[in-house]
Amino acid sequence: MPLSPEQQAEIDAQRATATPTLRAVAPGIEQHLYIPRPVLDHGFVRVVDYMGDDAAICQAARVSYGKGTKSVQNDEGLIRYLMRHWHSTPFEMCEIKLHVKLPVFVARQWIRHRTANVNEYSARYSILDREFYIPAPEHINSQSKVNNQGRGELLSPEDSARVLDMLKADSTRAYDNYETMIAEDGIGLARELARMNLPANIYTQWYWKVDLHNLFHFLRLRADAHAQYEIRVYADAICEMVADWVPFAYKAFEDYRLGAVTLSAQMVEAMRRMLKGEEVTAENCGMSAREWREFQGVVDGAS
Ligand SMILES: Cc1cc2nc3c(=O)[nH]c(=O)nc-3n(C[C@H](O)[C@H](O)[C@H](O)COP(=O)(O)OP(=O)(O)OC[C@H]3O[C@@H](n4cnc5c(N)ncnc54)[C@H](O)[C@@H]3O)c2cc1C
Repeated sequence: MPLSPEQQAEIDAQRATATPTLRAVAPGIEQHLYIPRPVLDHGFVRVVDYMGDDAAICQAARVSYGKGTKSVQNDEGLIRYLMRHWHSTPFEMCEIKLHVKLPVFVARQWIRHRTANVNEYSARYSILDREFYIPAPEHINSQSKVNNQGRGELLSPEDSARVLDMLKADSTRAYDNYETMIAEDGIGLARELARMNLPANIYTQWYWKVDLHNLFHFLRLRADAHAQYEIRVYADAICEMVADWVPFAYKAFEDYRLGAVTLSAQMVEAMRRMLKGEEVTAENCGMSAREWREFQGVVDGAS
């Protein structure tokens, strides 16, 4: 249960109150406002606030006085042109503020994206909840044999059950000791010290505010098939929200970033030779073995 009844009541009260405004409103994201969207076993993402819409991107690009929209097709065409040509600053005119609840090991990957504003729940000041990410059996894999930074085959049901037992037992014991150490009528250890005993699968929370350009950069890396599953599911959830918020910009992002690939000069040359009917091989392509494999992935549609 990600939210207490009190927290749910606060959200309901916020959603029940509408304020007239002269500002642009994006109906697609209004439907998401304040509502937590569950991710993993105890996590969520919810939109706390936003600024701008597709039209705001075009207004900035045209430096217009009013709406500046000539037609919907013009707006979509302009946004696609901007995305295609890496004219990125108009996308920075849109911002979104998210409340995210996530395991600490996911937060460590997420926080590497420096171009956002973050405020995290303080485990010096507050007591962390007894909530740990325990993966579903279908996400418990062995170490990949081909990719040092990834997963391979599913573990056997017996090994998977052993892993789950260990994760649950360790999390429980660590939290029991945390509680014992901070008990005010007992040891009374400072919270800032007691937390060091907690494992990286415990949940933390933060407010995360980012502009659309840098959000797309985050999503490009973290909604990618190579990203770790546990952060990818957050990125996927955010992708769906962004698609509702700025549909033209999101479609352009899907077409020119998410679904696009970058080809090196050698890859372009190899592609041209192949189109002319030449036989291009690992030996005559001028690429390293790894780059050649990546290129084949692009050509075969496996990447
Ligand atoms: C699949 C994958 C594997 C990874 N593996 C590792 C790993 O093994 N070890 C590890 O440490 N990290 C790893 N990372 C993290 C990665 O190196 C980046 O730190 C992370 O993706 C954030 O990207 P970013 O710096 O482009 O984003 P942001 O911090 O949002 O920055 C966006 C852009 O702003 C510019 N910028 C921001 N701050 C600065 C600055 N201080 N100086 C110069 N330019 C700046 C850069 O152009 C940057 O691309 C991995 C990431 C991915 C997606």
